[in-house]
Amino acid sequence: MKTFDYLVIGGGSGGVATARRAAEYGARVALIEAGRLGGTCVNVGCVPKKVMWYAANIAHSLEDAAGYGFTLAGHDFDWPTLKQRRDAYVQRLNGIYDGMLEKAGVEVIRGFGRFVDKDTVEVDGQRYSAPHIVIATGGRPVVPETPGAELGITSDGFFELERLPRRVAVVGSGYIAVELAGVLRALGSEVDLLVRGEVLLRPFDGLLREELVTHMRDAGIQLCFRHQVRSLARQQDGSIRIDGEDGDGKPVQRMADTVIWAIGREAATDGLNLAAAGLNAGKHGVLETDEYQNTAVPGIYAIGDIVGKAELTPVAIGAGRKLAARLFRDQPDSKQNYDLIPTVVFTHPPIGTIGLTEEAARERHGEAVKVYSARFTGMYNALTEHKPRTAMKLVCVGKEEKVVGCHIIGTGADEMLQGFAVAIGMGATKADFDATVAIHPTAAEELVTLR
Ligand code: FAD
Ligand code: NDP
Repeated sequence: MKTFDYLVIGGGSGGVATARRAAEYGARVALIEAGRLGGTCVNVGCVPKKVMWYAANIAHSLEDAAGYGFTLAGHDFDWPTLKQRRDAYVQRLNGIYDGMLEKAGVEVIRGFGRFVDKDTVEVDGQRYSAPHIVIATGGRPVVPETPGAELGITSDGFFELERLPRRVAVVGSGYIAVELAGVLRALGSEVDLLVRGEVLLRPFDGLLREELVTHMRDAGIQLCFRHQVRSLARQQDGSIRIDGEDGDGKPVQRMADTVIWAIGREAATDGLNLAAAGLNAGKHGVLETDEYQNTAVPGIYAIGDIVGKAELTPVAIGAGRKLAARLFRDQPDSKQNYDLIPTVVFTHPPIGTIGLTEEAARERHGEAVKVYSARFTGMYNALTEHKPRTAMKLVCVGKEEKVVGCHIIGTGADEMLQGFAVAIGMGATKADFDATVAIHPTAAEELVTLR
């Protein structure tokens, strides 16, 4: 039995962050990782996704170039080159993570961890114990129980594709569905987005949802709302037949050579033998914690996607670092704030959003809500043939018009939001926004000149 001060199960965003911070504070730390260091974000999430998003942006810029006087002598796109360069970048990051952990003095244990009891975890027959154990095992994509579902892939499989699929059906309506649909379409696939409900990105503000539909349709993505997938079947020519139902229960059939399930993720807690530690996972494998990341068993904590809220890398990192400070830096009040979390959806154009939607604000604050919004075509598109619209909204509350929500869709929204998130987190009012000198000519300046 090897003993440590802190055992971390899972070397993704949350696990690596908490392990490094705890080691920095002087704790003897071991981190157990079954796969590649960096977890979902680095290997099959944010990082390779953003690379693909950049590639898609280049494709859009090439389309726009003629408006600025460029004549492009036929250009080609080679998916295998992009994939190979992207994978090499991710591999470099895996090495960097390894190096950072080594430098911090964290012992990395390779293998799958399972609880033996509440203080002990076993990896390949070797036991490790610690008074503090954090579970940071993240999640994995959900595959439905639909007949033939195994013919489809998930976002993990998307990153393994060796060729650009010709005809793709993406099933879902959340972050991953809209992001992957946008990338594939921009790079040249025919894309159907099969949505069971009537909206994309259901939890988001109505302005963003509506504008995104327009953008996706303009890009040539077939949006099929109220479409329930019932089964997949392989055809003789290798393609996949998708049998489903429309909103009136009428059968509908679609063909694709690649089907991507993007219908949510579940927590990876099932193989951990949680019962041995006295723990039970809830729906979708989620482990409940209090606001300090404590599970029901003293000395065992959970961070990141497995706690089932705000499944975002910076939240996993924040929770991990704050937990390390609480346990090993004598900061008893240190905890992650789950309010006012800014987030970006990497669609084309991107979405940046923070705080209450208009709908939620009205439900909570009724008549006290005042909304300012704008829709316009940014200057970049004055000369381009394609003229995607930018839209933004500030949701304010009370006499002082405190800004409780900010929602943007348009070029640059991804980079625009971070600074506004600082202001909103500090309690900025509409008057504070108005008192800020605009930066001209930008799209962001609209946010400080809304009337
Ligand atoms: P993970 O990063 O999933 O790490 C968990 C680790 O635990 C894995 O490495 C796994 O191998 C390991 N593990 C699991 N079980 C065991 C075990 N029993 N023993 C040992 N090791 C184990 N977030 C953003 O903020 N921005 C984005 O742009 C973004 N894009 C995304 C795109 C996609 C396609 C996906 C799928 C996710 C994206 N996310 C994004 C979400 C982000 O990746 C996650 O929120 C984040 O990775 C969660 O970190 P985590 O530490 O909880 O878990
Ligand atoms: P999401 O939770 O964002 O969306 C999944 C959606 O799929 C649901 O909201 C639901 O929409 C729909 N759905 C669920 N079940 C079915 C079904 N059986 N058939 C058809 N549709 C279904 O999940 P994702 O997998 O897209 O992403 C997981 C999480 O990862 C995100 O919530 C986010 O936190 C994180 N992420 C972050 C990114 C970023 O920061 N840019 C990018 C990618 C992921 P409805 O109920 O409306 O039908």
